Amino acid sequence: MRYVSTRGQAPVLSFEEAMLTGLARDGGLYLPETIPQMAPAEIAALAGLSYEEAAFRVMRPYIGDTFTDAEFEAIIARTYAGFAHAARAPLVQLGPNHHLLELFHGPTLAFKDFAMQLIGQMFEAALKRNGKRVCIVGATSGDTGSAAIEAFRGLEAVDVFILYPQGRVSEVQRRQMTTPSEANVHALAVEGHFDDCQARVKDMFNDFQFRDAVGLAGVNSINWARILAQVVYYFTSAVSLGAPQRQVSFTVPTGNFGDVFAGYIAKRMGLPISRLVVATNQNDILHRCLSSAKYTPDGVIPSISPSMDIQVSSNFERALFEAYGRDGRAVAQLMDELKADGFTVSQGALQALRESYDSGRCDEDQTRAAIRRTWDTTGELLCPHSAVGVHVAEAHLVPEVPMITLATAHPAKFPAAVEAASGQRPPLPSHMADLYERAERITEVENDLGAIQGIIRAYCV
Ligand SMILES: *Cc1c(COP(=O)(O)O)cnc(C)c1O
Repeated sequence: MRYVSTRGQAPVLSFEEAMLTGLARDGGLYLPETIPQMAPAEIAALAGLSYEEAAFRVMRPYIGDTFTDAEFEAIIARTYAGFAHAARAPLVQLGPNHHLLELFHGPTLAFKDFAMQLIGQMFEAALKRNGKRVCIVGATSGDTGSAAIEAFRGLEAVDVFILYPQGRVSEVQRRQMTTPSEANVHALAVEGHFDDCQARVKDMFNDFQFRDAVGLAGVNSINWARILAQVVYYFTSAVSLGAPQRQVSFTVPTGNFGDVFAGYIAKRMGLPISRLVVATNQNDILHRCLSSAKYTPDGVIPSISPSMDIQVSSNFERALFEAYGRDGRAVAQLMDELKADGFTVSQGALQALRESYDSGRCDEDQTRAAIRRTWDTTGELLCPHSAVGVHVAEAHLVPEVPMITLATAHPAKFPAAVEAASGQRPPLPSHMADLYERAERITEVENDLGAIQGIIRAYCV
């Protein structure tokens, strides 16, 4: 299996190289050259398997010879061993034909653990074999950073630097990043928004001298291996509800478009997905783009679903690459226009996007109302991100096709917003009940590339 860049100008890589690199050298994102297919009988055969066995079968074709079967099995076993639910990604029913996929039973209580724990294990196995060391740098609106720090803490071949927007992540998210005491993990509080953090990470990857000097590696949702890990739960949940004999739809609370793009990959592999509904909060650039073809950033307005507070959605580039018939030059052109003030998707590409994706938007009042309503009618306490999903999903329910809404974080990660909406204070699960007592370690830094690089160089060169 070989991997190509969405901008068509970077070297073609193996799975291992694409995983360790993250962002391509032409600024693009890696995708498999061809998408492996699963026949209906192979999909049907996932029924009744453990999550780990299903994960092995879905991901194996993408790994090539990076790991042997036995190595990959062992990696997957270690990846999900720390999850607090035996099913890993259990489904619960919210109403007639509407189901919630609980993706928050991992160690940091958000769906990002599914991918980040896997990446941690894969990096460790690959780097140890090669006798190499890397410096992982990532930007976070809260959940990626905590998941990354949790996945890499204490590993020998890796240093981790996570840039987060100061004052714009929840206290639980911040504490999950700042309380691990291992010397190889660092939380950097940047004076700015998530988009500033993401832009500085991109700047560092585009500074080839710096990139090579510190051995930069990325684990943001631009990393293909993360998308791949997320493909698995689309299969397991759809099969639970009768796929491949029956179609299913998904609604996905969306920010950087990584999770919903994993659903698109599942669909391309042969899973009968009817609709993929992109649910945004008031930062609705994706909904506006899918509605009007215009992709125009207009500033972030902080919301109670902060992990979706973005205006530049990095993985949307992958969807554009597919919608433009894998024309890397066209994608590079759009990304140039984006640096000015935005772009307009061509009619043909918009039509291609709409073949798979629907979209909807949920404002702050609607988010609170969805938390309250779901608590009242089902006893399920939603985090604000999942509530955005449920609100949008309810507008897309049809009698024939079951809807699965992804619950992307545990309500206890956002206790203030959940309590204000529902009157219920969600308790932290017992394994992190002492989070508020642990000592924090924070490095504050201005939104300046040189300042950030200076901190990283001091540890990694
Ligand atoms: C990251 C995150 C999202 C958005 O996922 P993307 O893959 O960036 O679209 C939604 N909800 C929560 C809780 C998250 O942490």
